[in-house]
Amino acid sequence: MSNSDVAKCPKSMLPEYAFIGRSNVGKSSLINMLTSRKSLAKTSGRPGKTQLINHFLINKNWHLVDLPGYGYARVSKSSKKVFQKFITQYFAFREQLVTAFVLVDIRHTPQPIDLEFMQWLGENGIPFSIIFTKADKLKPKAIENHVKAYKDILLETWEEMPNYFVTSSSKDIGKEDVLEYIDSLNINMKTN
Ligand code: GDP
Repeated sequence: MSNSDVAKCPKSMLPEYAFIGRSNVGKSSLINMLTSRKSLAKTSGRPGKTQLINHFLINKNWHLVDLPGYGYARVSKSSKKVFQKFITQYFAFREQLVTAFVLVDIRHTPQPIDLEFMQWLGENGIPFSIIFTKADKLKPKAIENHVKAYKDILLETWEEMPNYFVTSSSKDIGKEDVLEYIDSLNINMKTN
């Protein structure tokens, strides 16, 4: 189901997991890897296309939610940076959300908008994990260094590093880790 309005998202109370990041981070490729489909999520979306919230029902058990890329909304007469209403409303209204996955391209140094988005999630009490994408582009030592750069900067404001996953959709890396994590949270919710 695809929606441009949070109010029209599925009424189902199945647990859901939202995937979000800047455009081109590799979100569609990651979703296709996780679901073993070639083109469930459309890769390389054109900028400016309609922003949709896509719900995919997985194994009749949980929803994978493909959220549009985040950016700052234009707020006139104010220099305050806020994320698009579309995105903030999703997080405000979806009680079914178990956790968000914030995707970050592992090749780059920590980017302010990604850090600010994580900060915003934290301030709003929304649990999240980080998914580093495109790990095939770096050597193991560089992966370690780039993850550490994130750790160092996040630990300036957080007590601990959020849960994180290192993935590559081209090389099929990290798929089982992410899926097992989601399964473990689903099982936890059933037993609690
Ligand atoms: P989205 O805009 O976040 O949905 O990103 P896409 O999945 O469309 O990917 C953006 C670009 O990055 C495309 O050219 C993909 O082929 C490439 N890409 C995505 N994931 C990977 C990956 O794991 N490794 C490499 N090397 N390239 C990737």
